Amino acid sequence: NDQLLEVKGLKTYFHIGKGKIAKAVDDVSFAIKKGETVALVGESGSGKSITSLSIMRLIPSPPGEIVEGSISLEGRDLLSLSEDDMTKVRGNEIGMIFQEPMTSLDPVFTIGNQIVESLMKHQKLKKKEAYEKAVDLLKIVGFARAEKIIKEYPHQLSGGMRQRVMIAIAMSNNPKLLIADEPTTALDVTVQAQILNLMIDMKEQFGSSILLITHDMGVVAETADRVLVMYGGQIVEEAPVRDLFLKTKHPYTTALLRTIPNIDVDLKRLESIPGNVPPAHLFPKGCRFAARCTHAMAKCLEEIPRLLEIENNHKVRCHLYASEGGAVE
Ligand code: SF4
Ligand code: MG
Repeated sequence: NDQLLEVKGLKTYFHIGKGKIAKAVDDVSFAIKKGETVALVGESGSGKSITSLSIMRLIPSPPGEIVEGSISLEGRDLLSLSEDDMTKVRGNEIGMIFQEPMTSLDPVFTIGNQIVESLMKHQKLKKKEAYEKAVDLLKIVGFARAEKIIKEYPHQLSGGMRQRVMIAIAMSNNPKLLIADEPTTALDVTVQAQILNLMIDMKEQFGSSILLITHDMGVVAETADRVLVMYGGQIVEEAPVRDLFLKTKHPYTTALLRTIPNIDVDLKRLESIPGNVPPAHLFPKGCRFAARCTHAMAKCLEEIPRLLEIENNHKVRCHLYASEGGAVE
């Protein structure tokens, strides 16, 4: 079995008062193979981050709750682990990087302290060994003068440098899975490319898998092996990266692809998708994309389309393809 992570029928709901329920993640299933980079894409509000926080079991409860489904890492059911065991999984088996490293780095401790702390806690290293390993890790993530950086505080570094430090911390325990939630969104374009390349290098060096959460289809094209497109708390298309770009099926994916900046195009005229993701407590009865879809038919307003595998490893949730495939759920 080469599956690392398997998520099945995941439903993460939020009780938002007055009996209202926001179905932020609503019956999501997918798997990540060992060594694979899977991108989870969609606009903000589509349920990407709630999916990753569910995997980490970091959903604030209340108001949030995983109401159904299973999440397993190498066959071990994460939802039934004790909080102590889950803390170990978070430190050792799953590493995380977020959009703004300033919020995950502690401003009052040096970079060195924070890496050393993590290594002592999770790898049970002595202080001196941890310090040496911290210097090594900083070199691996591209700091030529690691001995200097290690003594600095987060605010002394640029955004890109802080993100390198976060990658060093995330990789310090050699995780099986790296979850990166919009890791380059706050960075400028040249630094973005460096950070993405670094993540891919690290993945190859450490043999980990990556779940990359992004709204940026350009980032997806450069990094992912396989893509999951999420909308309204559900997966609407899933395909190997090449097929997603060259044989796009879902109208939402088509719209997302039009948002990629292109050198030939004036950036100010870049298209955004008209309309908004519906709030998770007000999903329509039928297809959740219907209000924004240029192909919407009467049936789309009445019935939620099912996710169908219409070509090898290519799944889509849209009534336009209703006659083409077999249900996978
Ligand atoms: Fe558009 Fe209908 Fe397909 Fe939804 S099911 S994406 S509304 S065509
Ligand atoms: Mg998010």
